[in-house]
Amino acid sequence: MSKTVQMSESDFLEKIRRRAVASDRVPIPIGDDLAGVRVGHELIMLGSDQVADGVHFDFREHSPRQIARKAVLRNFSDCAAMACLPHAMTATLLLPRGVGSGLASALTEAMDEVGRAFDCPLVGGDTGSWDGGLVIGVSVVGRCEGVGPVLRGGARAGDRIYVSGPLGGSILGRHMEPVPRIALARALAGRGLVHAMIDLSDGLSRDLPRICTASGVGATIDAACVPIHEDVDRLLAMKLGKGEGHVSRTGAEVRLGHALDDGEDYELLIVGREIEDGEMKADLGLIEVGWVEAESGVRLMRGGRVEEMESRGWEHGL
Ligand SMILES: [Mg+2]
Repeated sequence: MSKTVQMSESDFLEKIRRRAVASDRVPIPIGDDLAGVRVGHELIMLGSDQVADGVHFDFREHSPRQIARKAVLRNFSDCAAMACLPHAMTATLLLPRGVGSGLASALTEAMDEVGRAFDCPLVGGDTGSWDGGLVIGVSVVGRCEGVGPVLRGGARAGDRIYVSGPLGGSILGRHMEPVPRIALARALAGRGLVHAMIDLSDGLSRDLPRICTASGVGATIDAACVPIHEDVDRLLAMKLGKGEGHVSRTGAEVRLGHALDDGEDYELLIVGREIEDGEMKADLGLIEVGWVEAESGVRLMRGGRVEEMESRGWEHGL
């Protein structure tokens, strides 16, 4: 038996990224939520994302419509992260052998439906079958129309860090129906309020370091400001087999851990200048969670103490 060398997704991406160099043709190479490719005078945004049975959904539990929507909406969330508009998409379906053409039709119809809702038609693709589980790949083309693209590398010392909504516990169901924050992203970018952005697909503790690394800065998160989704409490109640009750200090840490580390919230992590209260912050539902510093590394301020924040968010093994 050969020995498999384990490599994390981050290591793999970092290896590719080191070879990526911006050029006239590819002004935004690998390293952001979408790449930017110049065609004539137009900047075209390009990205691909896939979902697989047993990793991103459970074929026994989720309907074809749910699965198809997730496959598409994850891509649209990447468009939101760049503040661009989804323009058109293609999809590949790798179907479990013997399931019949009904599944392919149901998936395609659902992808087409969600695409139309975002004015992003499904324009082609490929289907095949194999002995494994269902895999859907979606590739999206985006356009900027004078706003963005917002990259991961624009954060500067003194910037504030915001999230677009409460975090954690998406496993209870929200992970299947991402809400791409495209309108918010374009509103912020259009007003020059955002310097760097990413969508929280792998958890704040893993996605914030990506912005810091790309920008050559560090950050501190104020634990008391991190908005914890009510799903975290539901999840803990289910896990512990008890309802709402006294939350011990350990319980508070566990709750915070879910908000920082759980993946697939698909909220935006926004880095930009300080936004005043009267300046849309409340209207837009932005929650300030920390700040950017020149010193590298990502830190967590909790109870007056500052410690290194561990990246414990979702990581695919390769
Ligand atoms: Mg992303």
